[in-house]
Amino acid sequence: MPFMFVGHGSPMNAIEDNVFSRNWSAMGRKVPRPSAILCVSAHWLTPGSTQVLATEVPRTIHDFGGFPAELYEKRYPAPGAPDHAEKTIALIRKAEAIADYSRGLDHGTWSVLIRMYPEADIPTYQLSIDYAQPPQYHYELAQDLRALRDHGVLVIGSGNLVHNLHALRVGAAPFDWAEEFDQRMAGLITAGDDAGVVDFLRMGPIARLAHPTHDHFLPLIYALGLRGQRDAIEYFNDEVVMSSVSMRSIVARPA
Ligand code: ZN
Repeated sequence: MPFMFVGHGSPMNAIEDNVFSRNWSAMGRKVPRPSAILCVSAHWLTPGSTQVLATEVPRTIHDFGGFPAELYEKRYPAPGAPDHAEKTIALIRKAEAIADYSRGLDHGTWSVLIRMYPEADIPTYQLSIDYAQPPQYHYELAQDLRALRDHGVLVIGSGNLVHNLHALRVGAAPFDWAEEFDQRMAGLITAGDDAGVVDFLRMGPIARLAHPTHDHFLPLIYALGLRGQRDAIEYFNDEVVMSSVSMRSIVARPA
């Protein structure tokens, strides 16, 4: 299976017809139909542990504030994937992953999938991010997940390649630093320099401008950890919106 990193941006992309949501729909038709979808979302952070959603019927979590009622009424009723969750827990050697039965699908997952797979008929589960751990740890943990690709699981990291909500300006042009960070990262990814991406904090002030906190960057590191030698990288939605959020997304598939 391919793997993906998706820049999810505003939750409104779940209901707005725009270039991003249209490309998500197109991507759902382009990649082979998965047996299950595992999402690593920026919005499930569990400092001190790694958790895998193992419920049979995950609920839809509306983990945002100040949006129109229409968005809160949306549900994504995909079945859960308890069998895949069990398999995933067994695969993870880097951490002692545990099953979670209380959480549902957060908007990092469902706002994208509601466009990619609107029928909501593919078993879907999530992996949490141990936010107490450094980027390199997540890169190594992701390598434990590589075998899932052979089991037909589509793994999607969902975050944003640039994500600074303090600098956000609706309708304004991108900041130079936002475009520069986005392009430097794309250069490293294209060149296969995963170590350069994982070490992004070494870039100094521009890294902290792009990610005052790095919750939205870690899903990209999970995606890159799944990369094999033969994978060809393709970008889509490569645009900086609201001055400081990069929507750049990746689909990688065996060449
Ligand atoms: Zn987000």
